[in-house]
Amino acid sequence: MPPVTRIAPSPTGDPHVGTAYIGLFNFVLARRSGGSFILRIEDTDRERYNPESEARILEVFDWLGLTPDQGPASGGPHGPYRQSERLHLYREAVDRLLAEGKAYRAFETAAELTAMREEQRRLGKDPGYDGRARGMPREESDRRAAAGEPFVVRLATPDEGATSFKDELRGDITIENSQIRDPVILKSDGYPTYHLAVVVDDHAMGVTHVMRAEEWITSTPIHVLLHQALGYPLPLFIHMPLLRNPDKNKSKISKRKLDTSVDSYRAQGIVPEALLNFLANMGWSMPDGREFFSLKEMTENFDYHRISLGGPVFDLRKLRYFNARYIKELIDLEDLAGRVAPLFRAKGWDWPDEDYLLDVVDLLRPRCETLLDFEEGAAYFFDDDFEYSEEALRKVEAGQSHLEDLEREISMLDFFDYDSMDELLHGYVQRQGVNIGKVMQPMRSALTGAASAPGVTEIATIIGKRRVLDRIGRALQSITAALPDDNPQRELEERRAQEAQAKQGGQQQ
Ligand code: GLU
Repeated sequence: MPPVTRIAPSPTGDPHVGTAYIGLFNFVLARRSGGSFILRIEDTDRERYNPESEARILEVFDWLGLTPDQGPASGGPHGPYRQSERLHLYREAVDRLLAEGKAYRAFETAAELTAMREEQRRLGKDPGYDGRARGMPREESDRRAAAGEPFVVRLATPDEGATSFKDELRGDITIENSQIRDPVILKSDGYPTYHLAVVVDDHAMGVTHVMRAEEWITSTPIHVLLHQALGYPLPLFIHMPLLRNPDKNKSKISKRKLDTSVDSYRAQGIVPEALLNFLANMGWSMPDGREFFSLKEMTENFDYHRISLGGPVFDLRKLRYFNARYIKELIDLEDLAGRVAPLFRAKGWDWPDEDYLLDVVDLLRPRCETLLDFEEGAAYFFDDDFEYSEEALRKVEAGQSHLEDLEREISMLDFFDYDSMDELLHGYVQRQGVNIGKVMQPMRSALTGAASAPGVTEIATIIGKRRVLDRIGRALQSITAALPDDNPQRELEERRAQEAQAKQGGQQQ
C-alpha cells in the first residue's frame, strides 16, 4: 500500500521552520513510493488561532515546492482538511465512545479541579485527574448535559498495566498506564482536543505513517489507547529528532534564541532549495554522503531508516553556506535572474533587455550569499546618478591622469566589447609600466561610485561605451566638485590657487 503521510500544522503564528522540516520528510516519504502527502490544518485551539496563519503556512509550502497532494487549497478525497470543519466527525467518535462506556462526561468546575490538585500535592501524590466522574450513572450524566451544565469528555484509560507502541526509529516505547490520567478528548467549547482530532483524522484520512517531531512521543500512548478504543488499526509512528538551538545546552529551537520563521528567512533572501537541502541534512544523509542534493534526488533516495537521532543543530552559518552555494552555482542563471528581477524592480530599476539582466546577475552572483546581496552595490547598473563614496573619490583622484588617458583611448575605440576593452586596459597598463591596481582601482571607482566591485572590463562591457565615457567624465568632475572640505590636498590646492590669483591680481594693478 503506498504510504499516506501528513503534516498537521496549527495556525497559531509565523510558519515555523520546524513545520517545514517535518513537512519535508513527510513529503519525501510519501512521494518516494507514489503515496499521498496531506496538509491538514489543526485549528481546534480557538484561543491560539490566528486567522492569517493558515494562508501563510500554505504559501510557505508552495514556496518550498512541498505542494500537498491533499489539503485545504487543493481539496481531496478526505476533505475538509481544516479540523474546525470536521467537528461532526469528532462528535460521532465521542458519542460512540460514550455509548460504549469507553469515555465519560466530567462536570467538575475549574475550582474543583484546582482543589483536587492541591489535595494531591498535600498528600504527596502525583497530580492528575483522579477519575472521580468515571462512575457517574449514565442517566445523571445525560440529564446534567441536557440541562446545559458545562462538561468535558474524558477517555477512560486503564489504571493497571502499560501501553506500548513501536517507534520506527527508536524501537518499543512503553509507558505505565498509571501515568495516563483519563485525558480530555472533547473540551467544554465542543471542540475536540488535539489527541482526539489527530486520531480520528489520521484514521479517516488513511494515514499510514505518522511522522512528526519527537515532542509528541509522550502523547502517543494516549493516541494508541484512542485508536484501540475506536477500533482503528495503528499507523506506523516515526518521531523525528528535534531541531536544536546552537547553544551550549542544545535546547529545542525557540523563537527567543533563533529566528524560527520561514517567512523571515525568505525575506532575508534565502532560496527554498537551500533551506530544504539544509533541513534535509538535519538527521538524514544521502546514501553516498553528498551534502548538496535536490528535493527530487532526496525523494529518489529517501529511506527513513537512515534518519539518525542525534539532535541536529540549526546552525545559521550552515544555512547561509548552503544558500551561497545555490546562488553562486547551483541555480540556473535564468531562474536566478527571475528571482532577483522583482527585487530590482522594487527599487525602481529597469533594464533594456533580458540579456542585460542576465549579465548583471551572472557577474554579481559569485559575490552574493543571499538574494538580497544582489541589490547591495548593484545600483550603478541601473542608475547613472549614483553617488561616489569618499573612498571612491580618493581612488579617482589618485588615478586622475590615467582616467584622462583612458577616456581619450576608449573614445577612440571603434568596436567596444569585452575583448577590445580588456586589450585596451592591459595595453595601457603595460605601456605605463605601473601596477595594474593603479589603473583598475580608479576605473572601477569611476564606473561604480564604489571602491569595491566586480571586474572593470566586465562592468564596462555590460554598461557600454557611452556610459563608460560619461562616468569617467563625471568622476573627474566630481573630484574637483565633491571632495570633502577637510581634504588637506584639496585645501592646499585651493590655497595655492587663491595665492596665485592674488599674486597675479597684484601684478596687474
Ligand atoms: N498540530 C500538531 C502540531 O502543531 C500536530 C502534531 C502531529 O503531527 O500529530 O505540531
